[in-house]
Amino acid sequence: MLIDHMIFRLQTLECKECRESLRGRRDKQFCDDSCRAKHHRKSNKPSPLIRRVEGVLLRNRSILKELKGTIECEATSDRQFQWLRKQGFDFNFHTHVQPLPDGRLAIMCFEEGYVVDEEGVRPWSAKKDQLLALLPC
Ligand SMILES: [Zn+2]
Repeated sequence: MLIDHMIFRLQTLECKECRESLRGRRDKQFCDDSCRAKHHRKSNKPSPLIRRVEGVLLRNRSILKELKGTIECEATSDRQFQWLRKQGFDFNFHTHVQPLPDGRLAIMCFEEGYVVDEEGVRPWSAKKDQLLALLPC
C-alpha cells in the first residue's frame, strides 16, 4: 500500500512549466532553472483586469495631455471639465494624489493631472522630480 502510494506520487510529479515528469526530490517543482524562470515570468504577467485598468489610466493621461494643448488657458474650469467628459475621460481612475504647495490636491494620471475647483477642473502637470519624490526608493 505504501509502495503503491509512493509510486503514484512519483508518477504524478511533473514540472509546473513543461509538464515533463520530474525525477529527484519530491518537493522539486521544475526540471531546471530555465523552466522555473519561464513559469515565474508568466505568473508575473499582468492579468486582463490589470491591463484594462492600465489602459484606462493611459487613456486618461493622454486626454489630460491633449487638454493642455487644445483648450486655451483662460477657458473656464467648467468648460475644461466638460471637455474632459466629452473626450471620455474616466474620473474614477487615477494613479495618485499630488499635494501642491498652496494646499490643493492634484488628481494625477502618472505625471498629468487636474485640480478640482468649485466650477470644474484645471489641468496640472508634475515635473519629473515631483513625481519621483513621491515614489518609494
Ligand atoms: Zn520543465
